[in-house]
Amino acid sequence: MWGKGLINGLRLSLKNAMRGPITVQYPYEKLEIPERSRWAVRPKFFDDGSPKCTACMTCVRVCPDHILSLDVETREDKTKHIEAFGYEVGACMMCGLCVEACPFDAILMSHEYELAVTDPAALSENLLENTDAATSARHKAEKEKLAAHPADEPAGGGEAS
Ligand code: SF4
Ligand code: SF4
Repeated sequence: MWGKGLINGLRLSLKNAMRGPITVQYPYEKLEIPERSRWAVRPKFFDDGSPKCTACMTCVRVCPDHILSLDVETREDKTKHIEAFGYEVGACMMCGLCVEACPFDAILMSHEYELAVTDPAALSENLLENTDAATSARHKAEKEKLAAHPADEPAGGGEAS
């Protein structure tokens, strides 16, 4: 009876000894990140480099960790200027709710996973700072442009480089 168990154990050991490595020598080697993986939140931009964020505050309200913040100045003509779009990356649980809730497709869950820092202050980031927010009219115009020329849609959805 125990002989069968011994043979099974030896067979399993031999099988594991013969298989290729399943780990890599990080950071010298890196595995390919699955397309749907979610890491740090990052802003998205139009082709001309201006941010897609309209400073609507939806993501700030929806974040269960309360780690997004927007310091926005609204001008007399109702356009908005983003002083700072704060993000506490060290406290982000990468749930993706902010990205799902954004009505303007202005942020994404990036594949940026090497987020360790030696200075804790570096965990408080500004996704955007001192920049004009996009307007609804700009988004409408971009939608119309893409509808007329769908092939022009950027492959990465305008991801920050
Ligand atoms: S991914 Fe989740 S925890 Fe992180 S900022 Fe977005 S909503 Fe908040
Ligand atoms: S990232 Fe999206 S949801 Fe958040 S403020 Fe900007 S437009 Fe609104």
